[in-house]
Amino acid sequence: MPELVPVLSKNDIDSLVTKVAHRISTDYRNHDLILIGVLKGAFVFLSDLVRSLDIPVQIDFIRVFSYGSDMSSSGEIHLKKDIEVDIKDKDVLIVEDIVDTGLTLKYLIDYLRSYHPKTIKVCVFIDKHQRRETDIAIDYSCHDVDKGFLVGYGLDYNENYRYLSGIYHLKL
Ligand code: 5GP
Repeated sequence: MPELVPVLSKNDIDSLVTKVAHRISTDYRNHDLILIGVLKGAFVFLSDLVRSLDIPVQIDFIRVFSYGSDMSSSGEIHLKKDIEVDIKDKDVLIVEDIVDTGLTLKYLIDYLRSYHPKTIKVCVFIDKHQRRETDIAIDYSCHDVDKGFLVGYGLDYNENYRYLSGIYHLKL
């Protein structure tokens, strides 16, 4: 049986989201900010984040897929669903559940730059360090871990566990 080891409770998550939302609200006050959530994993974090901000924002989604095993990506990334709002000359914040190698975010930043936004920054719920392969800047991160495969709060393993309100380390 897979084991789920608690990493962050719902209360922990609530206070981390409140803190990052305060930083983002301060940094982007009086800007035209568009949040772009990376499907599917970021849908829970994004929905908490927008309701904790105290500035108006627009919201869109993008989706990519990468070939690879259940627990790691191959680095070969393709677009599956594009954005639908116009981001030209706008401030864009990519909202992602977790960064691991960084290859997905590097692809997304390079791709979204082709639409000529004014700025592009990145907000992740979890910054996982050990396997980083790129030097992308993570502008906002809620929680750092070194390694391990995490599930819950939008994060899945074979489409399971996304619904959990906490974050867990999955041990198979
Ligand atoms: P990267 O391209 O940074 O290696 O990986 C990004 C994507 O891999 C994330 O958006 C997520 O879908 C998946 N991923 C990386 N680490 C984990 C993890 O610990 N748990 C889950 N569920 N997905 C992960």
